[in-house]
Amino acid sequence: MKNQTSLVHGREYLAIPGPSVMPDAVLQAMHRPSPNIYDGALIEMMPALTQDLKRVAGTQHEVAIYIANGHGTWEAALSNVIAPGETVLAPASGRFTHGWAEMAEGIGAKVDLIDFGLSSPWDIDRIAEALNADKEHKIKAVLAVHVDTSTSIRNDIPALRALLDDLNHPALLMADCIASMGCDRFEMDAWGVDVTVTACQKGLMTPAGTGFVFFNDKAQAKRAAMPRVSQYWDWQPRANPELFYQYFNGTAPTHHLYGLRAALDLIHGEGLENVWARHERLAKAIWAACDVWAQGGALHFNVADPTHRSHAVTALRLTEGRGTPLRNYTEKQLGLTLGIGLGMEDWDGCFRLGHMGHVNAQMIMAMLGGMETAMAALDIPRGQGALEAVAATLAT
Ligand SMILES: *Cc1c(COP(=O)(O)O)cnc(C)c1O
Repeated sequence: MKNQTSLVHGREYLAIPGPSVMPDAVLQAMHRPSPNIYDGALIEMMPALTQDLKRVAGTQHEVAIYIANGHGTWEAALSNVIAPGETVLAPASGRFTHGWAEMAEGIGAKVDLIDFGLSSPWDIDRIAEALNADKEHKIKAVLAVHVDTSTSIRNDIPALRALLDDLNHPALLMADCIASMGCDRFEMDAWGVDVTVTACQKGLMTPAGTGFVFFNDKAQAKRAAMPRVSQYWDWQPRANPELFYQYFNGTAPTHHLYGLRAALDLIHGEGLENVWARHERLAKAIWAACDVWAQGGALHFNVADPTHRSHAVTALRLTEGRGTPLRNYTEKQLGLTLGIGLGMEDWDGCFRLGHMGHVNAQMIMAMLGGMETAMAALDIPRGQGALEAVAATLAT
């Protein structure tokens, strides 16, 4: 660092894979006095809100809303369909699948975990072996993390559905779309997903605090056959409330609902197909820069094959533990915060770029420019011309 003048003052940019950048429209919608929770506008907006939420998930079925983060929705979903002693299958390609599996153990399930490591997507043949061996259909659900945010791997959910159908296996297909919803293409009903969980602070662009569990008739049938379900997590009254307070089993997350309303307006105003296409183009622009930098030998993608990478998050590695110094530089010198490496063996070498939700081309250019600056300041070997490559990608 040759020049010590700090360049940090100004609007900071949090480029981590959740929480994501909060749109001003969302923040402004939340900036209001507490509304009446017994009568009026808040109650009246619920039917359209749930409808528009279901459109983002690609489902005509039900949704239950919880005052919870993503971890809460993991437990909520499991609590409705998995009884103690029942088995779930967890094909893991990163930290988040392990987390969901541990939560299943916590509610008394037996977990059959297949670990695909930290840089590979599911191998459908190995999942097939596990399902084939389960002649008695002890496996009641497959816990499928669509995008594992720790590794940035995107798994093939339609292929898993096809496998379950081929084998005539009745297990529920449960998808974690916390990182992918509103970023990577996901279509719950078309893909035959039975339960989908997500939370509001990533592609849904609302401050952390509400989570959503979508479920279809098959999942509801399993719910109906459960010996008991914890009253707070029970999705039945939440999805079909007779009274407003039943949506939330208590006080509503009032301001979050207004924020979410604004976020859904942004998503449907842009059009979901366009939202997905924007994420894809921006992800490819980021990868174009990284491909050039990688020529210097220090920077590596965690996921080598671009077809298995998420469009919402990119996990990267820098040799000699230079990920942490890079993050420290961009945050302390430039006002740009990059994501830590999560669940990786080499903590200091790994870092992640969040590019989910309310991000556009100029922000991505700024993030990449910040990385170029940090690598220059830290003398990290890198290929030259990364930003030109991004410009060329975006200009075509
Ligand atoms: C962020 C995330 C979670 C955890 O969500 P929290 O809101 O932090 O509890 C779980 N799964 C995936 C895939 C995520 O991206």
